[in-house]
Amino acid sequence: MTTTVPTQRSVLVFCASSSSCDPAYHAAAARLGDALARAGDILVYGGGALGSMGAMADAALAQGGSVVGVIPHFMRELEWAHPALTQLQLVEDMHERKREMLRLADAIVALPGGSGTFEELFEAITQKRLGLFTKPIIIFNQNGFYDALFSLLERSIEERFMNEKHLEIWHSVDDIAEVLPAIHAAPEWPADAIRFATV
Ligand code: AMP
Repeated sequence: MTTTVPTQRSVLVFCASSSSCDPAYHAAAARLGDALARAGDILVYGGGALGSMGAMADAALAQGGSVVGVIPHFMRELEWAHPALTQLQLVEDMHERKREMLRLADAIVALPGGSGTFEELFEAITQKRLGLFTKPIIIFNQNGFYDALFSLLERSIEERFMNEKHLEIWHSVDDIAEVLPAIHAAPEWPADAIRFATV
């Protein structure tokens, strides 16, 4: 059985704030923003104006899409927030931001990024492991960026820190065009996943 995802989905994307990485990462993020807007989906993300985050939001807005940013006050004060989003939700801190972003999400996509992206992705994976979040998590493995992460997760399963079933928490795609189809194709995740959360 595949996951039932609403017709107008809110797709939460974690991606890089870096302006210094290979521009190919920004270009892929922009393609995803464009595709989400064309599909009529709402883009939800961390609300930043820089790097892949800014490129993705700009592309979605340019295509007439709806973009919701969730950003802590202190980041806005640093002028990190994108100035032209459909909606900017201000939250107290990083914890509230993740909670709110996950609450809004019908699906999650992680693109290449740094510690902020990893932190958000791991919170989502852990919540799904516990059955507290059940929606699709798609990882865009651009240029094999996430190969090392998959190796680490597989080792964690081999060494029985995690269960083999946990391999179904996330799905990896190699082409940005495969992200939206992968959301639809993701198998349903059981709400009672807590039963096999431990090994
Ligand atoms: P990183 O991958 O380390 O660049 O972190 C990106 C993630 O952390 C994003 O998904 C954001 O939610 C958050 N974040 C980190 N830096 C910024 C920033 N300058 N502006 C907005 N959000 C940021």
